[in-house]
Amino acid sequence: MSVLPSIPLLKLAEEATRQFAERFGRVPSLVAAAPGRVNLIGGHVDYNDGIVLPLAIDRYTVVAGDSNDSSTATLYSNDRHDECLTIQLDRPMAPQSDGWGNYARGVIAGFQQAGLVVPGHDAVIVSSVPIGGGLSSSASLEVALATLLEGLSKQMLDPKQKALLCQQAEHEFAGVPCGVMDQITAVFGQADQLVKIDCRSLDVELVPWDSQEVAILILNTHTAHQLPDGQYGLRRQQCTTALKKLGHDSWRDVTAGELDAKAGMLDEQELRRARHVVTEIQRSQLAVEAIKDRDWPLVGQQLFDSHESLRENFQVSCPELDLLVDEARRMGIPGGVYGMRMTGAGFGGCTVALVNPQRLDDVIDPLQTEFRHRFGRLPTAMVSRPSRGTHLIVSP
Ligand code: ADP
Ligand code: MG
Repeated sequence: MSVLPSIPLLKLAEEATRQFAERFGRVPSLVAAAPGRVNLIGGHVDYNDGIVLPLAIDRYTVVAGDSNDSSTATLYSNDRHDECLTIQLDRPMAPQSDGWGNYARGVIAGFQQAGLVVPGHDAVIVSSVPIGGGLSSSASLEVALATLLEGLSKQMLDPKQKALLCQQAEHEFAGVPCGVMDQITAVFGQADQLVKIDCRSLDVELVPWDSQEVAILILNTHTAHQLPDGQYGLRRQQCTTALKKLGHDSWRDVTAGELDAKAGMLDEQELRRARHVVTEIQRSQLAVEAIKDRDWPLVGQQLFDSHESLRENFQVSCPELDLLVDEARRMGIPGGVYGMRMTGAGFGGCTVALVNPQRLDDVIDPLQTEFRHRFGRLPTAMVSRPSRGTHLIVSP
């Protein structure tokens, strides 16, 4: 069995502190952290007024920083080795061509637009969130930077405003039209709590999770299929069109019965998308109730059904994801698996599964073996408890 170990947060903080001292010749005054996330259920309903149920994972982006007496931000990331990023804070912020710097510029711009003064600072970023793997390294970077800036400027944002500011940074500076789930999870996550988000009202509810009874297993297929461009945008468009044809403003007002009755109003693809959205919202709601009842087989079934709907109706799966889920379904509860689904946008990325903690080895081994047999590489396995959201580890 090969499982990617979690690096303790304090170790990451020590590493960031060490690198900061090496780069800048002094000790950082603050160390901020923010986690990656995985969404247990609620696939492609974040932009359809649905319910999503993510958790912060125990992989973090950590930023060690300190004010400097200048109007410049100087940043390093251990992921970008010796690249030194400098941002002039007294000039208007605009996206540049250097990729990761735009996440920092976007967050700084958000603070400035909110009327907060961002002091000159030096910072070093160290991360254990896999980058580009669908576990939202981008949101963890934005939120960790925002927490650092709160500390440096001694001005706290309202938590929801902070998440929205980070989402806006990703939209306007990184050019990624993401929902706000990732940033909300990185801000609101708590140990052994899921973060239920009502995407219509943006209400957040923490749902207790029993990590002794169920383990959360993430498998990364390391696949990103080169599909014709715009599949994500196309799905969004199809959902919008279908909803309009059904005569509603929100998917929350569409029942399965009404969809059956009005099926003739939609073309075949729109009907599939609509079926997914309506049933996925039901599954998320049912999963929340089943978690409260500690009915793990029922929760797991919602995951399997979610995958099936994402594959058949929303058509965003791929052979790598399907192989893992099919194998997991074959093992079932006797084999230690309650449920598994693809998570994230699809066409590659990760699966998330609920597994009997005593059976982890028995589950991971055959899944990795089968996958390697078929695709010639090992899917990385991670096991995570729901973890704490962004916070300062070291503060004056
Ligand atoms: P995901 O959020 O699923 O990991 P994205 O493509 O949304 O994938 O975000 C990855 C991008 O975020 C990277 O290409 C980089 O620009 C930026 N990024 C994330 N973490 C770091 C980091 N530790 N250092 C530098 N850039 C980072
Ligand atoms: Mg991202």
